[in-house]
Amino acid sequence: MSEPAAPTVDLSVVIPVYNEAANLPLLFARLYPVLDALGRSYEVIFTNDGSADGSLALLRAQHAARPDTTRVIDFNANYGQHMAIMAAFERVRGAAIVTLDADLQNPPEEIPALLAAMAAGHDYVGGYRLDRQDSFFRTWASRLINLVRERTTNIRMTDQGCMLRAYSRAIVDAIVGSGAANTFIPALAYTFAAKPTEVGVKHEERHAGVSNYSLYRLIRLNFDLITGFSLAPLQLFTMFALASAAGSFLLVLVLAARRIFIGPEEGGLFTLFGILFFLISVTMVGIGLIGEYVGRAYQVLRARQRYHVRELLEVKR
Ligand code: UDP
Ligand code: MG
Repeated sequence: MSEPAAPTVDLSVVIPVYNEAANLPLLFARLYPVLDALGRSYEVIFTNDGSADGSLALLRAQHAARPDTTRVIDFNANYGQHMAIMAAFERVRGAAIVTLDADLQNPPEEIPALLAAMAAGHDYVGGYRLDRQDSFFRTWASRLINLVRERTTNIRMTDQGCMLRAYSRAIVDAIVGSGAANTFIPALAYTFAAKPTEVGVKHEERHAGVSNYSLYRLIRLNFDLITGFSLAPLQLFTMFALASAAGSFLLVLVLAARRIFIGPEEGGLFTLFGILFFLISVTMVGIGLIGEYVGRAYQVLRARQRYHVRELLEVKR
């Protein structure tokens, strides 16, 4: 692996874009003035994550209008938000990096607050949403998942779902260098941070369109988060399996004793089936969990290319 290059601008803003044509014009109109007002050198890296709407055309136009501060990475297909961020991380030129959603749920006006915390000596600043504007279900599901994560990993985040975050270049280089595929970037960053902090940020409703996260994708993401950062699920399962094995062994002893001293009984047949089904289901859960870890090992072994860049729009330096 080559040595990470030295920063050539003060700030890189990283934005994954998937079918955000209805949001991009307003995003440009709000983001660039905030960055211009910082009085520091910056770049904005958009990753077009295989959008099927006019997003790419809008990004092209923005690159043409602001070539010195706008870079566009164009994926050939949809690889997911975290891959989109990863591709930008691999190319950042900034000393500090800020990630942001394209749908204006994270107000760009909050960026200076993150940078102020960085200037105060923190190497990782996580945002947490002060007044979350998501569906009731999303908000509560995410609280539950937060709780599970707190218990099973050593990652402490008020709001894992908030992508408005600032990272020092060292942390971004460490994330890139770790070669992690299929990972949850805010959590990974936390494991590399020396002096992390959090700031409250405003949260707005999605400006246009609907969330790209279906229930299925949310479940996948959170499964990633828990299996990716701890072996607790596996260990819990093993403990549970041991306890249930001991329990069923006792049951066998009891049943054997009854068979010897009372004689044959068939009234217990359904109980037995019930127990059997229970044990089988425990086994299946276990196999699934093991499969998850094996799958991860397999992914690492394959070291496949994680995404394909169709085109890079940027001014060479
Ligand atoms: N996104 C992406 N690829 C995807 C899904 C989402 O690049 O496959 C981007 C999307 O354009 C947005 C951000 O990731 O900038 C967050 O997505 P979304 O708003 O759908 O998620 P939510 O806010 O509901 O968590
Ligand atoms: Mg959103």
